[in-house]
Formats: sequence, structure tokens, C-alpha cells
Amino acid sequence: MGILDGKVALVTGAARGIGRAIAERLAAEGADIALCDLKEEWLADTAEAVAGAGRRAIRVAADVGNAAGVQAAVDKVVQELGRVDILVNNAGITRDGFLVRMSEEDWDAVLSVNLKGAFLFTRAVARPMMKQRSGVIVNIASIIGLIGNAGQCNYAASKAGLIALTKSCAKELAGRNVRVNAVAPGFIQTKMTDVLAEDVKKKMLDAIPMNRFGTSEDIANAVLFLASEQSAYMTGQVLSVNGGMVMM
Ligand code: NAP
Repeated sequence: MGILDGKVALVTGAARGIGRAIAERLAAEGADIALCDLKEEWLADTAEAVAGAGRRAIRVAADVGNAAGVQAAVDKVVQELGRVDILVNNAGITRDGFLVRMSEEDWDAVLSVNLKGAFLFTRAVARPMMKQRSGVIVNIASIIGLIGNAGQCNYAASKAGLIALTKSCAKELAGRNVRVNAVAPGFIQTKMTDVLAEDVKKKMLDAIPMNRFGTSEDIANAVLFLASEQSAYMTGQVLSVNGGMVMM
């Protein structure tokens, strides 16, 4: 018996990293999972892991920043799995650079995936969730959305916007028993952070009281809590998972 038995979860950016760990964690607790990423074939390994846990996995290719593609993806999930109980807006990208050198393309790309993508998926699942009078949405924000970061004005703005989106949607949807919360990870070891220079990583590590980087599983555990009835009285909240790096 898992705490998500009978539930259907949709996870974006599920091909690797944090998204993959979330999909596997929710599946281990009994949820069937719709996996979304830019290309269906990238989702093969995650789908295999979900199936290995004895749950159904379907693969949906969509660019989260494309409205028609997102609607088609949600329609496919509802058609094949019957419903959506849990949406995890995880897909995210970085295009770092200092403000004065940041191109409009890098600004737009990050805002499109990190913020517009979450808006589009939330809008697409909101109707069916309101109709079924239940649902949970978890947005993967970042501590950078809380404190800002030099060289990441696009990313920080997208994640701060995502936190504001979380709170606004939580207020709109609470009356229909749809909860919306965010997780704000600190420094998590994935492909997104592997590209950082060693001296930057060292500086980060020095700023983490728990003296280790986070793992994708650390984030997946927080998502599981927010996706389950264990957090039944929580909405509009930001759960920070960062080894003590930021305390607020
Ligand atoms: P990751 O390893 O780069 O994985 C992100 C996934 O999202 C990739 O599979 C990526 O596909 C997919 N994706 C990118 N653009 C997409 C789009 N337009 N449509 C659909 N899928 C798309 O990143 P991660 O570290 O696991 O990060 C996951 C989330 O956590 C992100 O929202 C990130 O901002 C957030 N986060 C991460 C950290 C950290 O330290 N790692 C800290 C705070 C917050 P591609 O292969 O095409 O890139």
C-alpha cells in the first residue's frame, strides 16, 4: 500500500534529474505517471523505472512553453489514464549571463519554460481538477527565486514569478479542493548544476550549513509530501529544501 495508490500524476521535465526522481518516488507510492519532456524517446529510462515499480507510465512529448502542445499533452493523459490528480511543474532551464549582456532570446527562453510552461500546464489541468473537486499542483521553484542571484536575472525572475503564480492559483483554486504549493530547492546535483565551474561549486558548498549538495531524491521526498494527503491543510506555501543555505 502506497500513500498515492490510485492517483495519476503528470511530471514535466521527467527525462532526467529532479523530474525523473520525482516520477520514480511518486510511482513507488502507487501513482501511475504521465511523463512529459521535449522528446518521447528521452523518457524511455524513466518509463522503465516507473514500470519496474509496478505502475503505468505513459510518455508525452511537449514543449511546456507551447500552448497547443500542452493542451494536447493534457488531453492525451486524461484520455489514456482517465484523470490528473497531481501535476508537478518541474521542467526548467538556465541561460545565465550578466544583465547588461543578457540577450532578449535568453530572457524569453527561460521565462517561457520556467514560468509560462507552469502557467500553461496549470491552466490545462485546472478545469478537470475543479470538476473532480480535487487536485494537487507542485511547482519546482528555486531559492534563487527567493534571494536573487547575480548572473541569473532571467532565472531568478522566472522562479519568483512561479512563486507568485503558486500563491495566486492557490487562492483561486482552494474552494474546489485543489491545492497549489511550491518546492524551492537549493543546490542540487544534476546536469543543470554539473556545468558550473569547480570554484563556483566550492563557494556554494561553503554556504551550505549541512555541508553537502542536495540530491534529486531530497527534492522528490518534499514533492511527495506536498502531493499527498499528509499536507492536506497546506496551500500557497513554498517549501525550501536547501541544507540550511537560505533560512526565511
Ligand atoms: P535538468 O537536469 O536540466 O532537467 C530538466 C529537464 O527538463 C530536462 O529533461 C529537460 O530536457 C527538460 N526540459 C527543458 N526544457 C523543456 C521544455 N521546453 N519542455 C519540456 N521539458 C523541458 O534540471 P534539474 O536540475 O533536474 O532541474 C529540474 C527543476 O528543478 C528545474 O525547474 C530547475 O530550475 C529546478 N531547480 C534545480 C536546482 C538544481 O540545483 N539542480 C536548484 C533549484 C531549482 P533537455 O534535455 O532538453 O534539457
